[in-house]
Amino acid sequence: MAAIIVGGGYSGLLAARTLLADSRFSGEIYLLEHSHTWGGLLGSTEHKEGGIFDHGFHVLQDTEISFLNKIMRSVLPDSAWLVKRGTEQEIRGLFAQGALQSSSPYCDLRSFTSTVQAAARADFYHNISQQSRKEFVGKLAVPPSAYAYLQQRFGEYIAKNILQAPLSKLFGKEASALHPYCCRLLPLDRIGLFSNAEITSLPLAYQAYVLATSETGLPPAHLAATRDRYYPHRYGMKFMIEAMLGQFPSQRVKLLSNTRVTQIHQHPSRGVDAIELAQPGHKTMLTNVDLLIWTGGIAPLARLLKVEAAQQFELEQGPRTTIVNLLFDRPDTLQGLCYAYCYEEDFTSFRLCSPANLCPDAVRRGLYPFTVETIQGVSAAQPTSPAALIKQVVAEAKQLGALHPSSQLRWAEVLPLGTGYPLPSLENIEAICQLRREVEALELSNLLMVGAMARDNLFFQNDVFTHCYQQVDNFMSFTKGRS
Ligand SMILES: Cc1cc2nc3c(=O)[nH]c(=O)nc-3n(C[C@H](O)[C@H](O)[C@H](O)COP(=O)(O)OP(=O)(O)OC[C@H]3O[C@@H](n4cnc5c(N)ncnc54)[C@H](O)[C@@H]3O)c2cc1C
Repeated sequence: MAAIIVGGGYSGLLAARTLLADSRFSGEIYLLEHSHTWGGLLGSTEHKEGGIFDHGFHVLQDTEISFLNKIMRSVLPDSAWLVKRGTEQEIRGLFAQGALQSSSPYCDLRSFTSTVQAAARADFYHNISQQSRKEFVGKLAVPPSAYAYLQQRFGEYIAKNILQAPLSKLFGKEASALHPYCCRLLPLDRIGLFSNAEITSLPLAYQAYVLATSETGLPPAHLAATRDRYYPHRYGMKFMIEAMLGQFPSQRVKLLSNTRVTQIHQHPSRGVDAIELAQPGHKTMLTNVDLLIWTGGIAPLARLLKVEAAQQFELEQGPRTTIVNLLFDRPDTLQGLCYAYCYEEDFTSFRLCSPANLCPDAVRRGLYPFTVETIQGVSAAQPTSPAALIKQVVAEAKQLGALHPSSQLRWAEVLPLGTGYPLPSLENIEAICQLRREVEALELSNLLMVGAMARDNLFFQNDVFTHCYQQVDNFMSFTKGRS
């Protein structure tokens, strides 16, 4: 049996690892990647002077499937992982209205003015009564957009005046044109607004909408995720990716980088039958394909399968993420947070990350790394040169209090990310789902679509990896039976 996996990001590597861990699979694997590097969005870069930086903030998380957890964790020995459990995981915060909120990644309105708080509360309670009535008569609709989601959860005032701005900042679009999932991505699905007593007096369903910080006296478990997060002790996702690649037995896994799929041939009964590959200078045909696992996005797959709607189709591009990696002579002042979002509308910074707060090994030669994820193309006042962008993000970090005023910058680089997530606009998501349905209608029994949006509401890294594992496992069970 021969399996072809398209895409050398974490999903592709995980699919290969899952096949290798399955005693029912004994064939060869061709792992194809169209760039010259492996790891996809979980990449890192290495510089002679600056050292290693991940492309923004990344951490892995346990899933609900213990065998999958074993596959993911067994890349490194147990002692090589830094494991964050329970309340230790609350490693995220945010800057809003000039202050750092360090107790949670959700927006806490209790640091806003009393006028804002009063208006937000009044509208929140009004909304609850409206919602309860609609729920009672069975008329509570699934929110059609991110804005509708926020409005349904928190009321008009909070949606309009507080939470829609960070969404527009990140995605460069009105919240009414974005998919509701964006609200979980940031995350905006809870808010801080009430005291402990007020929270416990809310109807039970609405207690999940609001935040209880340690200040309110509720146990920290109210906030903490139940599954462990983990990151290698040695800083740099690249080492984990290299470890995965190094563990593939070379006689069974053929690693083909700089390789593009140029044609997919279908057979009426066999499904995907052959694949044409283009590498610099030559083309090859892989025949007798038993399994094709596609992690490279639905639209390019649909195009190769000659789905008509895909031929003219272009996804709307979102604003580009540009990473600014910095080294300072002293630690940041993010109060131990691994990262903090920046909701300030006029700031070009979107997420300020402290690699050393996640992984102490990130400190190099006595210098402290600091990474700012910026969103390009949203604000008109954005700097146009790398040097100006560096100057601006350093000034913003100091103004926010994320860096000490006398921190000295020792090294910096600007890294525009070439690949990114598809813009989660309603239009894009609808179009991708439509293309996926058309690919499914071809009934190619040996084609597995995995990766973001390979099924409805599949966006989050952990869900993507779980789905990837399940697809491969189900396929093997179906073709070879349970062992
Ligand atoms: C800065 C940043 C922050 C993030 N933060 C979060 C977060 O907080 N929470 C979260 O859930 N997720 C987050 N993510 C997303 C997360 O990194 C991804 O969900 C995950 O890495 C996806 O892995 P993947 O392998 O499915 O896709 P990718 O990493 O995109 O890998 C796909 C690979 O396929 C290759 N490829 C594409 N098309 C082809 C083709 N035709 N032929 C050959 N190869 C092809 C690409 O080059 C790429 O290497 C973040 C991403 C970034 C960049």
